[in-house]
Amino acid sequence: MSLHLTDVTLTFPDGDTRLTALDHVSLDVPRGDLTAVVGPSGSGKSSLLAVAATLIAPDSGTVTIDGTTVTGLSRGDQATLRRRHIGIVFQQPNLLPSLTAAEQLQVMAEIDGRRTATARRRALELLDAVGMAAHHDRRPHQLSGGQRQRVNIARALMNDPTVLLIDEPTSALDQERGAAIIDLITRLTHQRATATVLVTHDRTHLAAADQITEVHDGRLRAVQGQS
Ligand code: ADP
Ligand code: MG
Repeated sequence: MSLHLTDVTLTFPDGDTRLTALDHVSLDVPRGDLTAVVGPSGSGKSSLLAVAATLIAPDSGTVTIDGTTVTGLSRGDQATLRRRHIGIVFQQPNLLPSLTAAEQLQVMAEIDGRRTATARRRALELLDAVGMAAHHDRRPHQLSGGQRQRVNIARALMNDPTVLLIDEPTSALDQERGAAIIDLITRLTHQRATATVLVTHDRTHLAAADQITEVHDGRLRAVQGQS
């Protein structure tokens, strides 16, 4: 199935009132599709990803992943769901400085109690899929910004997620490296049939998207491909 946000509203305390970060937002992302989300700074893009990732509970509305309404689950069940079904790529590749590329990935499986040998094999496969096989034993300081972002993306795929949520992955990269990262995300989305939401400020990335959604003041507007 896929990822569905239905009528999601999210507010934050703001002095005596509340600031509306997401205003009755609905979004459907089928598996194997790349949905691009664009919009000015402060429009609600990261908030949308945080709600979809179950990191923030909305004031109202629901998030459904593979037919399960995840907004109603306990915090513990949401954490399990995140580990098993959701891949998150934050803007900054927050890799652990002391670990090699392969170990960054293995940690994800070990947190979930899986066997080390299996995790290692899968980590090396994924590093190969993102073009980083030759660098599997390098630590973050030995990698370029683009290479770190590739490791970051591979790590998000470690648990074979249904949903892949990616926040401005190219903001620290030049045009050419940024385009290569978007190509990679597009290919992985189709190959691994993830329901992918890509937040980007770069309009040249939109050509790769199956649907494009624009956010303004917490409201969504379909630009292309959505009925
Ligand atoms: P974007 O990612 O599009 O730049 P955000 O989703 O980060 O936008 O923010 C949307 C709005 O919500 C902004 O006005 C921002 O200041 C506010 N906001 C985001 N996170 C918080 C928070 N934790 N507490 C209070 N306000 C927040
Ligand atoms: Mg943001």
